[in-house]
Amino acid sequence: MTVTDNYQRPIISLRISITNRCNVNCFYCHHDGILPQKYEMTPDEIHRIAQVAHSIGVRKIRLSGGEPLIRDDIKEIVSKISSIGFKDVSITTNGTYLTRYADELVESGLNRVNVSLDTLNPEIYRFITKKNYLQKAKDGIIHAAKAGLYPVKVNMVVMKGLNHDEIWDMFKFCQENDAVLQLIELLKTDNCPDNGFIDDYHYKMDDLEEKLANMADKVKTRRFMQDRKKYFVDGGEIEIVKPMDNTQFCKNCTRIRITPEGKLKPCLLRNDNLVNFIKPMREGKSNEELKKLFLEAINNREPFYEQCR
Ligand code: SAM
Repeated sequence: MTVTDNYQRPIISLRISITNRCNVNCFYCHHDGILPQKYEMTPDEIHRIAQVAHSIGVRKIRLSGGEPLIRDDIKEIVSKISSIGFKDVSITTNGTYLTRYADELVESGLNRVNVSLDTLNPEIYRFITKKNYLQKAKDGIIHAAKAGLYPVKVNMVVMKGLNHDEIWDMFKFCQENDAVLQLIELLKTDNCPDNGFIDDYHYKMDDLEEKLANMADKVKTRRFMQDRKKYFVDGGEIEIVKPMDNTQFCKNCTRIRITPEGKLKPCLLRNDNLVNFIKPMREGKSNEELKKLFLEAINNREPFYEQCR
């Protein structure tokens, strides 16, 4: 059974943000709230959320944050979720803990990782994250591929004047390490720091896409992944994620989210239609009642960009 929303979009993936804590401090980060560690969802609570999601047809789980690998119980969380029988269990991470944890995460049942890495330049890395962890992140990517988390996806937020001229170097790094490159448009959400960075750094990827289309051996459109385009170039892969002003992104969005505070979030770009899940769960609601909360959140889903209604 798969549930569809009021716009005929099937809900097949759930992104669970399991912490707000992070060991880096990216200047553009769209933090999902501020939550002290003591209020984070426990592994058993995350397991139950995933079970309810599975019962309404969700097939893919992605753990995110904050930095999910900052949690000491990350292996327990992955192991509990992977015992449910999802088609895909993945983590989005900054990669700095992967050398330490990749093998054990594979043993716990993890299928894939996306590693966020915007630059190969140590100075620019420090400017973006305020930390000197570039080598750790690169080693993490290499180690993850060796551990079997294949293919590693490298998420690069492309920023004008900061790293846009590094795209081809990053592609080469990915090719050398059996990774796929995912180029992400810099996004302005309600949660983003209001420091005017979007005007300074937003990079339009239209020209790049045209160039990729001309040079690619093959182009694939990933319909259930927000209609993203994947370009096959020189034996490597580059995918483009463009949520801003993109009606196709909305039209083909099959994802629901849960915030670190345990609230269902129907849309990446909105915060005014969340549904509290963890509170009723902690108050002892049954799985049937919890399912209804998922359905309520799905019912709240509307394409953010109006034209696709
Ligand atoms: N700590 C993990 C990591 O670094 O991947 C997971 C959390 S991080 C918020 C998830 C992804 O969101 C990263 O790839 C990050 O680059 C991206 N991200 C955060 N803020 C963004 C923004 N304003 N625009 C585009 N992508 C953003």
